[in-house]
Amino acid sequence: MRDILIVGAGQAGLHLAVGLLQQGYDVTVISNRTPEDIRDGRVMSGQCMFGTALSHERELGLDWWADVCPPIEGIALTVPSPEGGKLLDWAGRLDVPARSVDQRLKMPAWLGEFERLGGKLVLHDASPEDLETYAARYDLVLVAAGKGQIASLFERDPARSPYTTPQRALAVTYVNGLTPRPDHSAVCFNLLPGVGEYFVFPALTHTGPCEIMVFEGVPGGPMDCWGDVRGPAEHLARGRQILETFFPWEAERCAAIELTDDNATLTGRFAPTVRRPVAVLPSGAPILGVADVVVLNDPITGQGSNNAAKCAAVYLRAIVERGSQPFDAEWMQETFDRFWTQAQHVTGWTNALLAPAEPHHLALLGAAGQHPEVAHRFVNGFDDPSDYAEWFMDADRAEAYLRRVAA
Ligand SMILES: Cc1cc2nc3c(=O)[nH]c(=O)nc-3n(C[C@H](O)[C@H](O)[C@H](O)COP(=O)(O)OP(=O)(O)OC[C@H]3O[C@@H](n4cnc5c(N)ncnc54)[C@H](O)[C@@H]3O)c2cc1C
Repeated sequence: MRDILIVGAGQAGLHLAVGLLQQGYDVTVISNRTPEDIRDGRVMSGQCMFGTALSHERELGLDWWADVCPPIEGIALTVPSPEGGKLLDWAGRLDVPARSVDQRLKMPAWLGEFERLGGKLVLHDASPEDLETYAARYDLVLVAAGKGQIASLFERDPARSPYTTPQRALAVTYVNGLTPRPDHSAVCFNLLPGVGEYFVFPALTHTGPCEIMVFEGVPGGPMDCWGDVRGPAEHLARGRQILETFFPWEAERCAAIELTDDNATLTGRFAPTVRRPVAVLPSGAPILGVADVVVLNDPITGQGSNNAAKCAAVYLRAIVERGSQPFDAEWMQETFDRFWTQAQHVTGWTNALLAPAEPHHLALLGAAGQHPEVAHRFVNGFDDPSDYAEWFMDADRAEAYLRRVAA
């Protein structure tokens, strides 16, 4: 059977690796972290995943936490008013609940499944030189190394990457003891133009159910304030301080919070970047980039793990359909293009939300407070962002849609 090598044991790499093993391929995964490193390490993400991405995991029998991970039943949006209080405050239900399983729990478990199915795990920090060796030995080399340095082998695509610098200062905090939202669970998304965003949602970690707090600060603004924080306790305190200042209704929910563990915090920033999917090594051998390596979006819309699962599903199908024909550069480009038909909408929408809001975006988000249909459509777009092209992204279509809804 054909021999495939994947660099990176993350959301996309392991999803694809297990799918290929189930189809009878020989699969090797190169990981720069042991399962124990991942399990005992720092949190990496918010990893909230919506219905379609979860269904791809389910198709492979990898949705092991569906019964124990608390469901996220909707999305709520709140915009503070300059006079105090709330300017916008509404919620919509997801047709299919979302879920977030801590990658520290999920990836070691998937690695175990990968090895149980006969996959070969090599613990190594792959270098560009290693890729030459792999390309000579394997039928196909895929790089699913996330934000790892090795992604820079793939050339940045300037036409698809409008930003050259990070657009948000990011911070993540996993906590217990947060007061649940009334009515139904949700990603509670709070947005203060010019300052940043805060969202919080239920999840599952090592110790059981928890809540994940994600802070997105506009660079140079008052939520870009994590540089001097020393240690997890200060991190938790800084998060509270932000909420008390800008989102007091969220601070009220945090009276009893505590960190889930000593590694429950993360800060960082990166520039959203789309790269060309095929890198040609000095020998002339092509290799194919996967998920974040080639389409890296800011987490403001919570799409990266979703993209990773969708990318893995598209690539898996394309590899199987290829049969015994060569995995050449042309096939690699076509395979990525199939993924990009979906991913372009995620990137376009995510980049739009990073920019100051357009008048038609404000009109739509305002209308969602009056018309549950608009709220429902916006909320369910997180599962399939291609729908935003029909009514949210373009001013004329937005106006036509609002006219229809009002009528
Ligand atoms: C603050 C924050 C919040 C987020 N929230 C969400 C959210 O709510 N919803 C959502 O869908 N997404 C979210 N994401 C994004 C999501 O976590 C990622 O997009 C997703 O994990 C990408 O999957 P991947 O497989 O491409 O890469 P990763 O999951 O990052 O996996 C890459 C793996 O490759 C390994 N690696 C790197 N370099 C090498 C090398 N040279 N050799 C061997 N191994 C290597 C890494 O150690 C890692 O294990 C968030 C991200 C951040 C930063």
